[in-house]
Amino acid sequence: MHALTEQQVRRSFLNCSQGEAKGLALPTGFADLDWAALELLGWRDPRAPLRGYVVVEADDRPVGIAVRAAESRMSARTTVMCLLCRTTRSGDAVSLFTARRTGAAGRNGNTVGTYMCADLGCAERVRTEIPPWLQDRDPAEVVTGRAAELRERVRGFVDAVRR
Ligand SMILES: [Zn+2]
Repeated sequence: MHALTEQQVRRSFLNCSQGEAKGLALPTGFADLDWAALELLGWRDPRAPLRGYVVVEADDRPVGIAVRAAESRMSARTTVMCLLCRTTRSGDAVSLFTARRTGAAGRNGNTVGTYMCADLGCAERVRTEIPPWLQDRDPAEVVTGRAAELRERVRGFVDAVRR
């Protein structure tokens, strides 16, 4: 992603009120982010435990989606795949998140849901959690491929929210 200012991040949100966008807590270390290594900027709101935020570039513009984690957590004894970065993790490290859709659909309570890493740290995970069946390939190529797929899936999620 291109580097964004705090104001650009706050203005990017499609599916929450201006008040919420103004008041949300930015990710820790925002000033020092390595934007080039992010397909999405995702974080949980430390002040509002069920809230999370995902900001991506779509059509050369930053697009932010506010998401809400399900209150019930999955068991650490199960394994669940994050549908964005496709990393298989213990159930307590993955959450079902819902996003209110934009426009009339959202006003009618319509949401889009998907399973994502609970910390929304998928951009880091495509670089660090290489599945066993890809470990004998060229690591740089594997990361490039996984990052490109992550970007596509996040955009698909954004499109479902604003469709
Ligand atoms: Zn993930």
